Amino acid sequence: MNLHVVTMLLLLGQPGCVGPDFLPPSLEVWTGPSYREIQARPDALEALDALFQELERTGNRPVVISGFRSYERQVELHDRDPKWTESPGCSQHQLGSAFDIGWMGYGLRSPHDHELWALLKELSSDYGFDVTYDGAENIPAEPWHLNYVGDQTK
Ligand SMILES: [Zn+2]
Repeated sequence: MNLHVVTMLLLLGQPGCVGPDFLPPSLEVWTGPSYREIQARPDALEALDALFQELERTGNRPVVISGFRSYERQVELHDRDPKWTESPGCSQHQLGSAFDIGWMGYGLRSPHDHELWALLKELSSDYGFDVTYDGAENIPAEPWHLNYVGDQTK
């Protein structure tokens, strides 16, 4: 099953989730702005780098707050905050294709983020990203969460 199919199944809900042992085929470390080590799939990182260059051209220099997360890490986060985190195995972060973007020093839901969220929404599809949770389907909106789906026109 390719990543896009997995992602689509995740969007449709169940039963597209992956098991505790699922790992992306390869992971690399993000070398752009962040305040901790971020890993993700190499193709997603390359697209993110291009998106960040565009953000910088618009005078914005956000940071990557989260990238790949292991199943075990998702268990911890979900236990702590079940409303804002997917069930373990059902997070796009475990696929290595998803990122949370924000400002250094602020939480993900800071009022400072509104301009950034509008930009992410406007630019993401040009770089192969989806804002997965746009508030539809009774899932809380996560305008900071981008998932790499590749170039859908190819
Ligand atoms: Zn996220």
